[in-house]
Amino acid sequence: EVKKNGKNGFCYFSNELDENLLVKIELERDLRKAVQRHELELYYQPQIRTGNNDMVGVEALVRWNHPTKGTLSPGIFIPIAEETGLIHEIGTWTLREACSQMRKWHLAGGPLIPVSVNLSSHQFHQPNLIEYIRGILEETGLEPEYLELEITESMMMDATVSTEILQQLNEFGVKISLDDFGTGYSSLSYLKQFPIHRLKIDRSFITDITDNTSDQAIVATIISMAKHLNMDVIAEGIETKDQLEFLTQNACQEIQGYYFSKPLPALQVEESFFIPQRIK
Ligand code: C2E
Ligand code: MG
Ligand code: MG
Ligand code: MG
Repeated sequence: EVKKNGKNGFCYFSNELDENLLVKIELERDLRKAVQRHELELYYQPQIRTGNNDMVGVEALVRWNHPTKGTLSPGIFIPIAEETGLIHEIGTWTLREACSQMRKWHLAGGPLIPVSVNLSSHQFHQPNLIEYIRGILEETGLEPEYLELEITESMMMDATVSTEILQQLNEFGVKISLDDFGTGYSSLSYLKQFPIHRLKIDRSFITDITDNTSDQAIVATIISMAKHLNMDVIAEGIETKDQLEFLTQNACQEIQGYYFSKPLPALQVEESFFIPQRIK
């Protein structure tokens, strides 16, 4: 039953639904052309070692420079890309672009650091993943050890597929990190059976870490567990000095977050972090 607002309330609600659907259909239509039209752009967020402020890596994060709607974040269009299958084209573009940019930076004398690329579950489960990754690395000239693939816990739950894929990637030399760690619906037992190089502590545990003792306990435990399992560990979403201090005190050596830098366009990464003169 429609209450207080009667007919109007109901109409408003249903119009809003229609509108959302229309926006989605529009975005989907536009997204189909985004790659060809060079509307996608990778931003890069530095990953920092706390002791000396060295950059130890960068994460590639895709943006869509939409012709009329401005810069759209992946949270808006990646789900649409996944629903429609466009994720393969977009994911391939992203991987190729990230590897090629990193190779360019290496050749130009930038630091020999890896680039982290987020994989969607569709990409991770495609039947020829190894060949596909190998192809992109060969094409762009990037060495496998400079590519880190970010996957989430839920992607590994299909254990029969994952063990083999992860082992092959590992033998090939590509690194694997577990993104948004601690938020997935999964068990810890897979941590010992899969070759995972790094845990990325999810930002949701960091936000209130200076006050929330549960978050403190969870984060301290993840850091310690990673060490004992011989994995690297990085904390995501550090925005304040106090958060950084907690992590430093708890021996988390790598951080990523606005406190150090937001994700930046490639050119700005060069200007701000790599070398004083522009790389071309
Ligand atoms: P993610 O991989 O966990 O990436 C971290 C997100 O946190 C990024 O949002 C980044 O901009 C944001 N972030 C980093 N530091 C801070 C901070 O200090 N404070 C706050 N509030 N946020 C921070 P972004 O770029 O909007 O990406 C959102 C998600 O979209 C990513 O989460 C990732 O899951 C997905 N994504 C991004 N690029 C790609 C891509 O190329 N392919 C796929 N499949 N997914 C992508
Ligand atoms: Mg990520
Ligand atoms: Mg993520
Ligand atoms: Mg994350």
